[in-house]
Amino acid sequence: MARAKRLEFTKPVQRDIIKRATGDDGRIRCEGCRCVVKPGGFHIDHIIADGLRRDKSKPLTAADGQLLCSGFPESCHGKKTTKHDVPAIAEAKRREDRAIGVRGPEKRPIQSRGFPETVKPAKPPVRTAPGPSEIGRRFGVRK
Ligand SMILES: [Zn+2]
Repeated sequence: MARAKRLEFTKPVQRDIIKRATGDDGRIRCEGCRCVVKPGGFHIDHIIADGLRRDKSKPLTAADGQLLCSGFPESCHGKKTTKHDVPAIAEAKRREDRAIGVRGPEKRPIQSRGFPETVKPAKPPVRTAPGPSEIGRRFGVRK
């Protein structure tokens, strides 16, 4: 089954969403956190992530989208994409795989012989500073 083309919001729909998010003061507000966003500082987000849409024959409407602040990691769009949509799409794929019997590779024991056990080298004998008797012996000092 070929994946349907990703649906994007048409320009009129984007305009509707931006109009909806624009307050009486003329400022555009994020529909997630209500912060004021600059033109270009937002993303028209698919409320239902595009990868999860079942029926791709119907065109997207303003009700399918929301205007979210974007462009920084803690933005509403950044958070939704990384913390919600990506895991949700992955989970939906796993569920679909289970339903139709797609399996991962067989779990087999490791084929290679693995790493050799490390043998720690014997510690060299501790050398201490020569004491007076040692110095005397070396330089032939007689007692
Ligand atoms: Zn926001």
